[in-house]
Amino acid sequence: MAVTFRPKTETEATPDWPALGAETVRLLSEYVRLDTTNPPGNEVAATDWIARVLAAEGIPYKLYASDPTRPNLVATLHGDGSAGGPLVLLNHTDVVPVEIDHWTMPPFGGLVKDGYVWGRGAMDMKGMGVLELMTLIIHHRLQLPLRRDLTFIAAADEEAGGAFGIDFLDAAHPELLDCAFVINEGGTGAAEVFGVRRPVFHVCVSEKGPLWLRLVTTGTPGHGSVPHGDSAIDRLLRAVARVTSWKREPLLTPEVGTYFDRLYAAGILPSPPTPKLLAALAEDHPRIESLLTNSIAVTSLRSGVRPNVIPAQAEATLDVRLLAGTNPERFIDELRATMADPMVRIERIFMSSTPASPTDTPLFSAIERAVEACVPGALVVPSVATGFTDSRVFRRRGIPAYGFIPLLVEPEDGGRSHGNDERVSVDGLGLGLRILHATVRGVCG
Ligand SMILES: [Zn+2]
Repeated sequence: MAVTFRPKTETEATPDWPALGAETVRLLSEYVRLDTTNPPGNEVAATDWIARVLAAEGIPYKLYASDPTRPNLVATLHGDGSAGGPLVLLNHTDVVPVEIDHWTMPPFGGLVKDGYVWGRGAMDMKGMGVLELMTLIIHHRLQLPLRRDLTFIAAADEEAGGAFGIDFLDAAHPELLDCAFVINEGGTGAAEVFGVRRPVFHVCVSEKGPLWLRLVTTGTPGHGSVPHGDSAIDRLLRAVARVTSWKREPLLTPEVGTYFDRLYAAGILPSPPTPKLLAALAEDHPRIESLLTNSIAVTSLRSGVRPNVIPAQAEATLDVRLLAGTNPERFIDELRATMADPMVRIERIFMSSTPASPTDTPLFSAIERAVEACVPGALVVPSVATGFTDSRVFRRRGIPAYGFIPLLVEPEDGGRSHGNDERVSVDGLGLGLRILHATVRGVCG
């Protein structure tokens, strides 16, 4: 592999950004070709590939696995420690399934076409994985001085909850997660926000807490020709209808409040974020609505055996996402009161909550400086993610973890993560690499 730098009279060599950008595109095109759809994951395809790239550079790495097909890869460049603990560049190697009939491009073809790299994972999050990998490689090739360790972690199984990935590392190798800061997914740059054309980079400092519930009820089974008043299905439908029509007051958490205040201060919101303005925004933007409420999505209904049988049992699942600071016990009590039917049982499937990361850190300042240097006039705002990420494991330990994928995304590309024809722009990758590198230099250099 060519060593890409131009000699410079200053102390640090300057990376050759055009060449490195092209290399990033080539690597991502290779990486998205590896099918790591989870389930089953098979992330070993990804870690084998990353291992080959690192080995070619002479960068040591280690694998950690609870299942041989699902390893996690960790590579560290050691610094002198004078700035403090390690900076972790975190990414996940699995991707969500595709609905192949809705794609116009092959999801695992790695096509580079019309200025984009196309494929499942281009945004979520193999693109960022490659930016992190390239940042490590650049540091190693140019032997850039490091005042703290720079650690690259490629984790398995993020999309299915992390049991083979971050939760396994947390339980079996907790020392690997000891660090000062984390950069991960969760926030991206947006070329346009609420119809205003201005680059805004979201740095996710907090995320909603998943609370997945199952509603179960039983009734009297019987012949479909003789309906009666004790049908499990009827009871479940009535309870679910009360849940979906449950009106709840919007809630403004401090982190979401800061997000809107910053957008107003920058002129992106036309007027101060009053409850009225936020209600109007929420009506047009489901994501904003989710940031202002403990959201509930009914995600499955299960019952029935034959068209002419009244079944004995019916169940539904709810994907509840709680705002930071909401007490889950109290929420479940309110949900139970809303359903108003003691015959419908609430079971917990999964729940997680994490504190927010502070913004008054050297890493947050480094992100602000890096963005300003690479995209003058762009805005950096702390934001909140509606989904949850592997950052939760670090935030729980009190380690600041930021969701910061420094790609500038156009509105028409926003819905492609987990959607169809996922892609990332070639120019965006080049810019993203420069921003991430500058961020890392800012906090490690
Ligand atoms: Zn992701």
